[in-house]
This record gives sequence, C-alpha cells and structure tokens, in this order.
Amino acid sequence: MGIVIRPWQKGDLEALRKITWQSWISTYSSFIPESDLRSYFDIHYTEASLFSRLDDPSMQGFIAETDDHIAGYARLFFNRDENRLYVSSLYLLPQFQGQDIGMRLLEAAEGYAAERLVDELWIGVMVKNRQALVFYRKVGFQFVREEPFTMGKTTVSHLIGYKKLGRSPFINQKIYTTFDGGGNHPEPHAERVKSLPELCLELLSEQKKAWQDLREGYELLKDVKERDLPCKGFSVRLQYNPGRIKSSMAEVGEKNVRERRCFLCLDHLPEGQKEILYRSDYLILCNPMPVFSSHFTVSHLDHRRQAIAEHIDTFLQLMADFGSGWTVLYNGPTCGASAPDHLHFQAAPSGQMPIEKEIRGEKRLTLMTQVYGILLYQVRDLGREVIILEGDEPMAVGSALKGFLKALKKVLLIDEEPMVNIAGFYKERKWHLVIFPRRKHRPDAFFRKGDDRVVVSPGVIDMEGVLITPVEKDFERLDAASVEDLYKEVSLEGETVQRAIAAIV
Ligand SMILES: [Zn+2]
Repeated sequence: MGIVIRPWQKGDLEALRKITWQSWISTYSSFIPESDLRSYFDIHYTEASLFSRLDDPSMQGFIAETDDHIAGYARLFFNRDENRLYVSSLYLLPQFQGQDIGMRLLEAAEGYAAERLVDELWIGVMVKNRQALVFYRKVGFQFVREEPFTMGKTTVSHLIGYKKLGRSPFINQKIYTTFDGGGNHPEPHAERVKSLPELCLELLSEQKKAWQDLREGYELLKDVKERDLPCKGFSVRLQYNPGRIKSSMAEVGEKNVRERRCFLCLDHLPEGQKEILYRSDYLILCNPMPVFSSHFTVSHLDHRRQAIAEHIDTFLQLMADFGSGWTVLYNGPTCGASAPDHLHFQAAPSGQMPIEKEIRGEKRLTLMTQVYGILLYQVRDLGREVIILEGDEPMAVGSALKGFLKALKKVLLIDEEPMVNIAGFYKERKWHLVIFPRRKHRPDAFFRKGDDRVVVSPGVIDMEGVLITPVEKDFERLDAASVEDLYKEVSLEGETVQRAIAAIV
C-alpha cells in the first residue's frame, strides 16, 4: 500500500470530519461519553470552522492518502504567544492505525517545522490515551506539564510535551534495559528472564563503574554514622548522612518547585545516568544520594504531579515485581517528596528499617475493620500513628487504600491528597501497606534559627524508623524525648485517625 503525504486542501473537509469523529470514537469513547464528544465536535468541527482553519496562516495540515482512501491527517498550529509549533491533531482512521502512517505524518510536521526554523515540536495527549503516549515517547517526545482538557461536560487530564528536532530520541540513549514483567518468553530454551531485583542490582553495579557521582554517593555512604536510640515502646536508628543535606533542606514550596529545573525529567538527568524502562511508563534509576546499600528511585516518564490514588496499581505492581525482600516507598507531595511535581516512588531491600521488626507478629496490631475484604490494623505504642492494610487481591488493596484516603479527606475537610507516607511490600502472597498519616511535614525545630535549628525533614524513611540527620550536631544531640516529640508533632492525632477509620464506606 503506497502512502502519499500532501498538504490539505478545501476538498478534504468531509474526510477530515469523518476521520476525526471515527478516531475519537475508537480512542476516546472508553473514557469520554459519546454525548460529550458529540457536543465538542458539533462546535469545533463544523464545516465552517474547518474551512476557516484551512485559511488561517497560523495553521497547516497534512493528509495521508492511500490509493483510494484518505487514511489520516495532522494539523499544525503555530502559537504566536508561546512562539511554539504544536501538532494540534493527528488522527488516523482505526483501520490504518499501527502501520507507520502516524510516523509519516509526524515526519511531514517535522519537515514543516524545519522550514520555519523551529527546533521543537509540541503536542498535547490525553493521559488515558496510553497507546498514543507510548508512541510519542518512543519517537522522542517528553511530556513536561499536565493540564485539564474539557470536552462537553467531561474534563480529562492532558499531558503537554515536546520533541527536540534533529536529535535522536533521548530515551534510547539512556535505557540500560527494559522490564515488562518477564512473562513474555515462553520458548522452553529461552534464557531465563531476570527478575526485577536482579536487573536493578546489575544496573547499580554497572552504574557504580560508569557514573562517578553515583560512585561517590556510595563512597560517602560508607562513612555515615548510625546509632540506635531506644524510645518509649519503639526504637529509631539515627543516621548521620551529610550527603542528604540537599534533600533535607530542599525547598518544596510550590513557587520554588515551579521555578527549579525538575531533576527527574528525562532531559535533565545527569550525564552518565542510565535507567531501566519499567512497564513502558516508568524509569528505575539509581539514587545518587543513597540512604541504603542499594537505593532506587522509580520515576514516571512524564512530568506529572505526585499522587497516590491514581497510581496505586503501579505501586502494588512494583511490590509484586520486586518480590519479598524489598520495600517500595511513597512520599506524599507535601510530606517528604523532594520532587512533588514529578511522580515517583523509591525501592530498597527490606530489613533495614526498625519498624519492620516492631510490627512483625501481631502483638501490637489491633484489627479495626475490613474494607473490601482487606484487613485494616492500627498499630499501638510506636510513638506515631501507623495503619496497616493487608490483603491478597491487588484491586481490593487499592480500593481499601483509596477508601481510607477518602475518609481522611472527609474528616480533615480537605480536597487534596491527605498527607501520608506509605511503605509497602509483598510477602507470602499478600500485599502489606504501612501507612503513616501526617499532620505536618517538618517539625517547628526545622525552622528555628541558629543553634536551635534541628535539620530533620521526615519522609517515609524517617517514619519507618531511620531518622536522617545530615548535620552532625543534630545526630549527637537528638535523644529519646526529642525523637518522641518529633514523631508526635508530625503525625496525625490518633483520635482523627480513628474517626477516619470509622468514616470509611
Ligand atoms: Zn519532571
């Protein structure tokens, strides 16, 4: 089948309408009601409005034509305010998808951009249009912003991204290997597929050889000082880790975050860093400022805000893929995440956090309720509020966590995600989530001046009992009473947590 790409003409109007509508129905109707698609279409895709676009000098369009069919089109829009060229639509009839026609249209768009001396091509793609996101990322787009997009009465999330022209897809140069679940090699003599932990440890050892900053980060880890501090009913391990000063002191206010260069975006990753592409959407990276002897960051390929409810499936999948012996960590956007604007988790081998022993056995656990068949425990005498969810059905575990977060919102009278840190692991065919509901991120002592200042910035690792102190003086002077006060100050009150448990529906 020969494909010809040519500029659009007025005679193409009817075909443009048909292609747009059919591709919307096949792609969007699973998440946008047809009535909303229709009302949007009836406003923006009338013959008259298309006709005016064909005449608009800030627009250009390309048609992909087979011998007897118009198979698809791309529309480009030059946004003068932003001085940017957007691919504002790229649609194919369903029967022509997956045949490289999209790629051909994109090449025509790039050619046009080059003629106009533009070196970037921008695009917006709906978050739920996963196939398209995977395609655009593969050809070199990076998504850097999330925005709402409304069609009729439905508002969906939209990712805005760009491609630097004339550069081979950045991602290809950065990928060490790919992990898709390992179940795709049924041939009997195929090499055994490596497990995710094996791949991660391999990456770490390769990266220590090839990437100097990482090597130095792990060298520094050898010199950290630790001391165990028994407190009332529990114990913490203080870690004096000067390498973590940047992370502990990170300005996580909205304005600072907006103005800084996001250090998890693919384009900004340090030279020398390599990643594992995890299930098409995430990168697993070695953390260059480790707290543990192997410490990984799992970050989304797109610049999307930190949020647990929408990404709980990945969180649970990561636990299962890492398997028993590993812990996956989540910090809420306002209580410990150093990049609240870029979705990420962490992973590390289990057995390094004091709380793991303390919650083993059920002596401290009180079964409070069952949600979707998932057991919800409250843990006593840890000096901070701890909730445990346990179950063997990932969908149900996810729903139970969402139910708990929703109840917390209701009790706290807030709309945004309640402050939580979560550590999760998969053991004996069950998911275990250890949840720390929080009242504040940093204790007052963090904001004091001079000698009174204590640099602790509790995130999930600290709540798990490894209290990071990047300043030596704090490491020396923190005692049981101050640690007990600290946990109490940053944890949500027990009474509020109880009310939230009672409010789960
Ligand atoms: Zn980012």
